[in-house]
Amino acid sequence: RLILGIDTSCDDTGVGVVELAPDGSLTVRSNRVWSQTVHARYGGVMPELASREHVERIADITTDALEQAGVSLADIGAVAATSGPGLVGALLVGLMYGKGLAQALDVPFYAAHHLEGHIHAAAAEGDLHAPYLALVVSGGHTHLFDVPSEGQYVLVGATKDDAAGEAFDKIARLAGLGYPGGPAISDAATRGNPDAVPFKEPLQGQKGFDFSFSGLKTAALLAHRAGAKPEDLAASFQRMAVQFLVKTTVRAADATGRDTVVVSGGVAANRALREAFARTGLNVVFPGAGLNTDNGAMIALAGAAALREGRRASPLDGGASAYAPLANA
Ligand code: ATP
Ligand code: FE
Repeated sequence: RLILGIDTSCDDTGVGVVELAPDGSLTVRSNRVWSQTVHARYGGVMPELASREHVERIADITTDALEQAGVSLADIGAVAATSGPGLVGALLVGLMYGKGLAQALDVPFYAAHHLEGHIHAAAAEGDLHAPYLALVVSGGHTHLFDVPSEGQYVLVGATKDDAAGEAFDKIARLAGLGYPGGPAISDAATRGNPDAVPFKEPLQGQKGFDFSFSGLKTAALLAHRAGAKPEDLAASFQRMAVQFLVKTTVRAADATGRDTVVVSGGVAANRALREAFARTGLNVVFPGAGLNTDNGAMIALAGAAALREGRRASPLDGGASAYAPLANA
């Protein structure tokens, strides 16, 4: 069965096609993303421009995704689209387009939570079955969930201030390393000394599993003013950010008894983070290439999981929501 997934939560128009095999395994058949460039000159995403650009691109990207998958619209057996959180105007474009497609094809429609998509981005990498822990490290979230059973999310910890990706972006900008900051820091770090700038691990001694990046950001600013080399700043910050994320997640795994951890979202593309998680001895699952940052295939994967569990389709009159917590907690 083929599931078409759509994500238009921010400034990427993403459409992907996923195949759900009779044995329950999932394969990404295509994944097309149009990353909007109109925002560059404003230094941030302009919501209304994002919506308009989604309207202009969505049909073409959908055609591309079908073509790349080698299927036609008539082969699609279910449609999933992000309903939140995100920019409401942007979300509405993909959501309405997805509902329209589902209605025209007379197939079930699934409204997906954006973070459920990020988590399920890893579902095509072998068998991902609950229970597991899920760490979402993206541009807007640093959230750790316990997933005791499919479709159930319990928030175990979250950032108290900046998201991990946001910290990478801001420190990269500060050090003049360019945008997006994650890849820029990761690249510069290979040429820097991780011992050059002393960063203190945030929230030392906490009993919980929360995150915080504002202290690292301030420390980076002070080191930059004191003349730290951008490469050294990148290497030192990245090492501490990775150490903090991994240590906190491992403590949560010990506390909950979970031995499988999904790490997803844009920052999950970070090589140092992947290597550090690989050394934990936990069964760590990462999204495949092109599935870390926003895309449509991850939403198709979330829809496919819902379909596989026999979850009821979403009503066609549901709306988009800017702030929608994933956890029922
Ligand atoms: P959210 O899903 O929370 O709304 P988002 O969808 O904008 O946020 P993503 O697209 O998942 O976020 O991820 C973007 C973030 O990932 C950026 O902050 C970027 O710097 C970061 N990132 C991308 N590649 C890397 C990398 N190699 N190392 C570290 N960070 C990275
Ligand atoms: Fe995202």
